[in-house]
Amino acid sequence: MKKIAILGSTGSIGTSTLSICESFPERYQVVSLAAGTNLDVAFAQCHRWHPRVVSMATEQLATALASRLFDAGLTDIETVSGTAGTIHVATLPEVDFVVSAIVGVAGLEATYAAVCAGKAVGLANKECLVAAGELIIDAARRFNAPLLPIDSEHNAVHQCMRGGRASEVHQVWLTASGGPFRNTPLEQFAHITPAQALKHPTWVMGQRITIDSATMLNKGLEVIEACRLFDLPPAKVRVTIHPQSTVHSLVEFVDGSILGQISVTDMRLPILYALAYPERVPVEDKVPLTFDLAALSHLDFTPPDLHRFPCLRLAYEAAEQGGAHCIALNAADEVAVAAFLAGQIPFLGIPRTIEEVLAQTPDQHPASITGVLEADAAARACAQRVIAAGHAARTIALS
Ligand code: MG
Repeated sequence: MKKIAILGSTGSIGTSTLSICESFPERYQVVSLAAGTNLDVAFAQCHRWHPRVVSMATEQLATALASRLFDAGLTDIETVSGTAGTIHVATLPEVDFVVSAIVGVAGLEATYAAVCAGKAVGLANKECLVAAGELIIDAARRFNAPLLPIDSEHNAVHQCMRGGRASEVHQVWLTASGGPFRNTPLEQFAHITPAQALKHPTWVMGQRITIDSATMLNKGLEVIEACRLFDLPPAKVRVTIHPQSTVHSLVEFVDGSILGQISVTDMRLPILYALAYPERVPVEDKVPLTFDLAALSHLDFTPPDLHRFPCLRLAYEAAEQGGAHCIALNAADEVAVAAFLAGQIPFLGIPRTIEEVLAQTPDQHPASITGVLEADAAARACAQRVIAAGHAARTIALS
């Protein structure tokens, strides 16, 4: 029986993980949850799963949850809050496996703490490897903590890597759907609206990651993640546009063989793979993950156009520099995407903001998670200034 902690239990990866635990109660036991801000869902999860500990984002929410649990007779569930609470959830002695699925830098410290406690960690949080990859990979080596990627592409690469030795890998191919603007004429990019950018052809996801798919910054973050996870230079992590999103990624070995991973587009598959590793669990009819190979007519692979997707070029540049540049890439993008969705900047303002912030970022490699968070805050402030300055300039030009 594996004992599971879920950081981000009310989000989509969190609820998919619970659905796997539901399907395989003889294999997985939920021990602790970090549930964020959704009190109703947190209460329902406590009621269903009886975790030993549950953490909420704030003390106020934790108190509110505790009183609801008391009223329901669930008096043996410990309620904690904030970063310290999330760290407590992630490092309980009995926890074997931590699913890291808190979106943003909020999950960084707890994930790092889990790795330092030698826990196996399933990584669904991009920021962990993009912003703090150097620290987390180093800690995973020192504390012998297995890292299992849950992001579908990296999960696919992890599976394909089992087909040869690390020294036999020539390069990795991350597949990308190309997003909704794969075929949009370049001159129309300036007029793309938030509503258009929020329509993703294959996956239903959160707003930021959907915009990041449209700009392909998401794929750029994945390039950085792959460099960290598989210890590869950026030049050996390639991107290929694969509109069918059927092959989740590929590994090319030195003898010319290319192994790819094909499956349904359902996050429960990479979650189950990560939880069960190194085993493979028969899903039978418990989870509908069967892929209909007969319905597959063709697979297309084309190189990405870096003029169309400058965010991907910027990500490769940040990957080369590492450290604070990767932190700034992620932070500036989050600020720029929020500004785009709020109608403050145009679609192309996203790469412009990131480029400007990267140019102003010092060449630093933070040596602690605190240092990472400071660099992150500095990059966010810089992005706000860049956006505000853009507005000021336009106002002057108009008047
Ligand atoms: Mg992905």
